[in-house]
Amino acid sequence: MNINSNYLKLENNYLFSTITKKVEDYKSKYPKKEIINLGIGDVTQPLPTAVINALHKAVSEMSSKHTFRGYGPEHGYNFLKTAIRTYYEKRGVFLEENEIFISEGANSDLGNILDIFSNDNTVLIPDPVYPVYMDTNIMAGRKIIFMCATEENNFLPMPDKNIKADIIFICSPNNPTGAVYNKDELKEWVDYALSCNAVIIFDGAYEAYIQDRKLPRSIYEIEDAKKCAIEICSLSKNAGFTGTRCGYTIVPNELRFEGVHLNMLWLRRQTTKFNGVAYIIQRAAEAAFTEEGQAEISKFINYYMDNAKIICNTLQNMNIWFTGGENSPYIWLKCPKGMTSWEFFDFLLERANTVGSPGSGFGKNGEGFFRLTSFGDRKNVEIAMKKISSILI
Ligand code: PLP
Repeated sequence: MNINSNYLKLENNYLFSTITKKVEDYKSKYPKKEIINLGIGDVTQPLPTAVINALHKAVSEMSSKHTFRGYGPEHGYNFLKTAIRTYYEKRGVFLEENEIFISEGANSDLGNILDIFSNDNTVLIPDPVYPVYMDTNIMAGRKIIFMCATEENNFLPMPDKNIKADIIFICSPNNPTGAVYNKDELKEWVDYALSCNAVIIFDGAYEAYIQDRKLPRSIYEIEDAKKCAIEICSLSKNAGFTGTRCGYTIVPNELRFEGVHLNMLWLRRQTTKFNGVAYIIQRAAEAAFTEEGQAEISKFINYYMDNAKIICNTLQNMNIWFTGGENSPYIWLKCPKGMTSWEFFDFLLERANTVGSPGSGFGKNGEGFFRLTSFGDRKNVEIAMKKISSILI
């Protein structure tokens, strides 16, 4: 037996364990201090009432012989696919039911989708990056090329015609930087992918946070994207499903490489290695797409985006460079006074009792930057931003 030695090439990600350790050390030294966490990437608002009601109803159905459900379709129930199709149609994107695959969240599909691509492919990944794109490709032994996201390009790297890639990961709105591509920029990526016969894996986990109607929420709002892109989405950050688990992946029928339909490959992969998402969860997800569900989701998103405004206004008042926060729950700021990411982390913890995420933990281009999130409680955001203002003025 040989192990997959690619796993040994994975670097330990010390980001969150180091944060936890530093916070615990500080708390044991100063037990009376209240620490505010603006580093969390998890939602804090509860599930919408429409979702809870649908869950209760579906659970009751499971208790009766006449309405009980056993195995469902591996790719998802049609009732949920119809709800997702309608959601996309409102933005002028028309999908076939067989192009939508229901998943238990974006994270697993971001890795699983790689099963249908050869390990010989070269992968293009942004730096800084949501670590899953990198680690799943290291596990498969693929060659990775990083595209630099920097202050100069507003953390929105554009295609370089001198680089030949086969698989391109794009996350917009981006985690960790909060940066969002506009339609022209995404069109450049689509044209580039078509020109080098590459596939784009588009992570739209934060699409619901886009406020500016001119910005694309799906890559399929871009002409010809169905010929080169797979879109992976989640109900985690919009409908609060981080613990409930549901998402979806779109593999268009037009997506064909060397005459092979990727949709057929993905269907084959899913029907072999996956047995579908629980019926009750799919009913809950369906409820999230109803008018009532969407109205509640809007309220939650507005709450988080109002938090983001408080953070952005404070940074603006202090003349601190940042991106994100307008169409994304993440705010990515340049550490003031030339501090490194970890120096700024320590400074905030000790002087403002506030925790964020050091940018260097997301890649080398993250050094000197810092991520704050708007998922916290309003009062805490206000207190933390007041404290940060007072120590930096
Ligand atoms: N994609 C991005 C960019 C994320 O930040 C996250 C979660 O934080 C995910 C995907 C995973 O979402 P899910 O909860 O659906 O697995």
